[in-house]
Amino acid sequence: MDLLLKGMAKEEPLLVVAVVDTETVEKARAFHDTYPTASAAFGRVITGAILIASTLKEGQRVMVQVMGDGPIGEIVAEADWLCRVRGYIKRPHIHLELEDGKLDVGRAIGKGILNVIKDLGLRESYHGSVPLQTGEIGDDLAYYFFVSEQTPAAVSVGVYVDIDNSVKASGGFMIHALPGVKDETIKYIEERLKSIRPVTSMILEGLGPKEIMEEAIGLPVEILEKKDVYYYCPCNKERVLDAIAALGEREIRDLASKGEKIDVQCWFCNRKYLVSKRELLSLL
Ligand SMILES: [Zn+2]
Repeated sequence: MDLLLKGMAKEEPLLVVAVVDTETVEKARAFHDTYPTASAAFGRVITGAILIASTLKEGQRVMVQVMGDGPIGEIVAEADWLCRVRGYIKRPHIHLELEDGKLDVGRAIGKGILNVIKDLGLRESYHGSVPLQTGEIGDDLAYYFFVSEQTPAAVSVGVYVDIDNSVKASGGFMIHALPGVKDETIKYIEERLKSIRPVTSMILEGLGPKEIMEEAIGLPVEILEKKDVYYYCPCNKERVLDAIAALGEREIRDLASKGEKIDVQCWFCNRKYLVSKRELLSLL
């Protein structure tokens, strides 16, 4: 089972969260049949959504949407306060490499925007939106935290795709500087992160979230919270009908004209729902 840990540095006001979500991202890859560069981009967005979800309160949800002008088009990941996550990628069959064989996530995503929408419960929601900085996701999320949540943060997310195209390592960490942090501590963390190895090599070596946190900040961490992370889609027939109802009358009549029954597939988990003409027309 994948695991997320949240903790505080023992002697500094630094919040640290780390997650190893290899199984979850591999499941997302299999559901959506992503090619390696798309798998890396998708996995980083999924990990980002999980990291943000770790800051939510009971009952809340977050959706991270990356819309770029690169060939992938759009990636969405939704996670709830329990760090259960699901995702959607518009064009999964994208594979772009750099000259050194590295996966070119930045080019696959391109220029565009990062949206973060939080469902805070009681019909309250929060929407933050920032232009993509590099399309590499980690930097983009750090920029989002700084601009939209006024929280200086460092975010690192990574996915390692195996030779057989499966996801062999995925995970990430984030560090939030809380009020009262000394300038020299921020400088120390910034310097440290410049020379740190990629989070995927820590995971490939077998490090868990606690060791990743401590390697990231170079300080002992006290663990405050622990969450099991997994791919979870809460779709059901009722929600599918709600989604169709939102399409509007013309679309619904159009669908109803296609036969006595139509197959509707969930975008997030590929589960199929059979919707009858009668059910469609009852939405009008
Ligand atoms: Zn579903």
